[in-house]
Amino acid sequence: MSAALGLYRLQQVDSQIDQIQTRLKVIRETLENDLQLRTATDSFAAAESKHRESERALKQSEAEVEKQRIKIEQTEASLYGGSVHNPKELQDLQKDVASLKRYLETLEERELEAMLIAETSEKESQIAKAHLEHVQSNRSDQNRDLTQESESLHKSLERLNTERQAVIKDLAQQKMSVYDQLRQQRRGIAVTTISDAACAACGTTLTPSQQQNARSTSQLFHCPSCGRILYAN
Ligand SMILES: [Zn+2]
Repeated sequence: MSAALGLYRLQQVDSQIDQIQTRLKVIRETLENDLQLRTATDSFAAAESKHRESERALKQSEAEVEKQRIKIEQTEASLYGGSVHNPKELQDLQKDVASLKRYLETLEERELEAMLIAETSEKESQIAKAHLEHVQSNRSDQNRDLTQESESLHKSLERLNTERQAVIKDLAQQKMSVYDQLRQQRRGIAVTTISDAACAACGTTLTPSQQQNARSTSQLFHCPSCGRILYAN
C-alpha cells in the first residue's frame, strides 16, 4: 500500500470541504448583497417622485389656462355687454382681448407639453414598479433556493468532517505537517495522482522510476516540479 494513501484520502475529503466552503461563501454573499433590490427600489422611488411632480405641474398649467379663459370671457362680456360706449375704451378692450388670447395660446402650448411629460413619467413609473416587483419575486425564489442549498451543504460538511476525523486518526503527525504545509503553499492541493505518466496537478512528465517511487510503501514521493505528494496505487 502506497505511503501516500492516507494523505490521498485526506486530500479527497479536504478538496470536497474546500469546494463546499467556496460555494457557501458565494451563497452567503449573494444573500447579503441586495444591490439589485436597492437599485430597483431607488429607481422606482425616483420615477414616482418625478411622476408626482409632473402631475402637479400639469394641474398648475391647467389652472392657468382656465384662469386665462375666464379673464377673456370677462373682458369680452365688458366689450359686448353694452355698458361701455366710449370708442377709445372699446378699442382698448378689443386690444386686451386679442392680447389675452395670444397669451392663452402660449399657456395652452405649455399645458400640452406638461400633459406629454406627465404621460411619459407615468409610463416610466409603471415600468420601474414592474421591474421592482420582478426583482422582489426573483429574490424571494432565489433566497429560498439558496437557503435550502446552504442547509444541505452544511449537512455534507458535517459528514465530511466526521470522515476527516476518521482519516487523520491513522496518520502520523509528521506526514500531517508536510501535508498542511503543502496545502498552504499549493492552493489547497497537497496530494495528487499520476495521469498519463505525468503529475496530474502540474503536468510534469514523470520517468518510470519516479512513477515507481510514487508507489513506494515506505516513504512519500514528491513531484520533482511542483513538490506535491504523488499518489499511485
Ligand atoms: Zn507536479
